Amino acid sequence: MKLTYLSMAWIIAGGWSAGIVQNLCGAEAPHSANYARPFEPPTRPAFIPLPPGAVEPAGWLRDWCLAAKDGYTGHMDEVDDEFKRAWASDHKMTGDKLLWYKGAWPYEGGGYWFDGLVLLGYALHDDALLRQAKQRLYAVADNMNTNALLFLWWLDKNNPADRKSAVAALDGWPLWACGLLGRAMTGYYAGSGDRHILDALEKAYGGDPDGLRCIPGNLSNPWSAYETYTWTGNKAVASALDAVFKEEGAGLLPNVNRYRKAPNLTPGSTVTNAHVVEFVECTTPWALGYLWTGNTNYLQAAVGWHDLIERVAMQPYGVPVSDEWYVPTGAFRGSETCDVANYIWSQTALLTVTGEGRMADRAERAFFNAGPASVSRDFKTHVYFQSPNRLIAGSPDFPHGPRAGGGLYKPKHSPLCCTAALNRIVPYYVTHMWMATHDNGLAATCYGPCKVTALVANRIPVEIACTTDYPFNEIIELSVKPAEKAFFPIYFHIPGWCKKPELSVNGTAVTIGQNAKGFACVSRTWKAGDAVRLRFPMTAVVKTGRDNAPDAPYTGAHKPTVVTVPGPGTTSGLPYASVSYGPLLFALAIPDTTDANTPDPAARWKFALDVQNPNITVERHAMPQHWNWPLGSPLQLRANAVAIDWNPTFAKPQLPNAAVAQQKPAETITLVPYGCTKFRISMFPVSADGSAATQP
Ligand SMILES: [Zn+2]
Repeated sequence: MKLTYLSMAWIIAGGWSAGIVQNLCGAEAPHSANYARPFEPPTRPAFIPLPPGAVEPAGWLRDWCLAAKDGYTGHMDEVDDEFKRAWASDHKMTGDKLLWYKGAWPYEGGGYWFDGLVLLGYALHDDALLRQAKQRLYAVADNMNTNALLFLWWLDKNNPADRKSAVAALDGWPLWACGLLGRAMTGYYAGSGDRHILDALEKAYGGDPDGLRCIPGNLSNPWSAYETYTWTGNKAVASALDAVFKEEGAGLLPNVNRYRKAPNLTPGSTVTNAHVVEFVECTTPWALGYLWTGNTNYLQAAVGWHDLIERVAMQPYGVPVSDEWYVPTGAFRGSETCDVANYIWSQTALLTVTGEGRMADRAERAFFNAGPASVSRDFKTHVYFQSPNRLIAGSPDFPHGPRAGGGLYKPKHSPLCCTAALNRIVPYYVTHMWMATHDNGLAATCYGPCKVTALVANRIPVEIACTTDYPFNEIIELSVKPAEKAFFPIYFHIPGWCKKPELSVNGTAVTIGQNAKGFACVSRTWKAGDAVRLRFPMTAVVKTGRDNAPDAPYTGAHKPTVVTVPGPGTTSGLPYASVSYGPLLFALAIPDTTDANTPDPAARWKFALDVQNPNITVERHAMPQHWNWPLGSPLQLRANAVAIDWNPTFAKPQLPNAAVAQQKPAETITLVPYGCTKFRISMFPVSADGSAATQP
């Protein structure tokens, strides 16, 4: 099989094989799509999300979901009194208490938590979690009225003083936080069909054409408003969406409106950076604007801004630098746990709208690497910031938030945002592993062990079990079981990093052709017992680059700075190398001994990667019975490294400022998946001459 390769971003896939498959992929269904909403604008997303609960985790992924349930997600009331107090049935918030910990907090923190709680409850089909979610969402829904200002039911949207106070509170923070609660509401309605929740959504987003446009901070609310419209056709909700997306300029504040147009990605061009939570919530919604209006410029803007932050600030673990503003990639710069959740959310949203597999690649990389590094193995402590290299507890320092303390695994951090947001990480991924298509098939969008139950063809139920240890293994076996024989397409995401993907149906190889969006389609008459085997051969990849991030000491000021779009082969900055294998980033672990904040003092970590001759080999072991991201990973790499004299100051750690001359013979070091480590080196110093990767 001969394949043509495009760039890293545009990947291989798509196609069919004469004899066993028929190429009707993409054909319109003779009737409306199974998962189409009753009211939709003419511009449709590439994929249709399945209702929560359609995808259930299995294998190692189920173990991790259960850890989330037994850790934070099922027990947030025990983590901090704010979670308990703000949602007690007798708690009445008032208009003069709208600041961070008073009015906005319950809806930001609550919104994050309930969003995760709802989706995890459905993914695990866990009634106790769902009851917990329902009780909390009803605490809002029961109080909603037609005058409520979004979900701030104690405020009157028709009272100018109430509106002014909400807008004035930290740039409308309570209003943006409503959007997070709204997402939890829409997730719950999508799973339950509970009319009480849909009524609350209509009250929040209907009756005020200015209700979405007037929010100063960002565009978190339009997602829930859009969903509400697709279920109800509510004309007032439509007017509010029109006011944001159809009126050019529209009076949106500049920090939101600047993302209406695509950025300049030319190397050397400059851009004023942003707080990354805001960036994600300001940029991603223009993909929604595209759906609402059909204006492709909006889609290019959403995709373009995400391409920009990827080029400028992407960390090897798959989430941009966000500590808390984006700056160039850096070995000792951090990513806020809020943004691990946010970034996975944004990529699944862009994947849904665009159908581009590279968004799925981004979601996988963030989920498999940054996801587990955010939390301890028991899901009961977490970091506010993670960094590619973590040598000791309390180092490095970070510019904002809890500063150096943000790198510690603790039950909670102040502010509490990340403690709540981390609940979204696992269920967001699981929920979006499969999606429906407009030709009444299914798309395998992100991989891992799971089972999907959905309707295909002419509303025929199908169950597809996905048996795999991916990403710790490269083989994915699917067992397809429709209730009766049915003709429908299945689209398989072909990872962008995979050079020689293999696909077979019932033992017969299917030729994978080229498709710019990175999906291979098999359209045929499926019957119970049909088996699909995917193999995504992984190879070790050494990526070299330059750390151009500003380093400590930091001023702690929250203010924008200007960053430059890097070009290929830049020679300024500190050289580094990182090692990936498939979607996994690998790291030299500094073993955590008694807990996630105590490194083994005897561990050796002063190594430069031998980029001239990395000589990487792979070692596999059986998957453990129970998965908790162990240091003894079933997948390990061995690589050549050179011991170097490197003594970073822990208050201000840095990579060596140049490739290190090799004075000692190379020795073999063992690398494990980054997500299994709590202390590590994953952005390595390089041995001289380290300017080019030479991995065969
Ligand atoms: Zn946070």
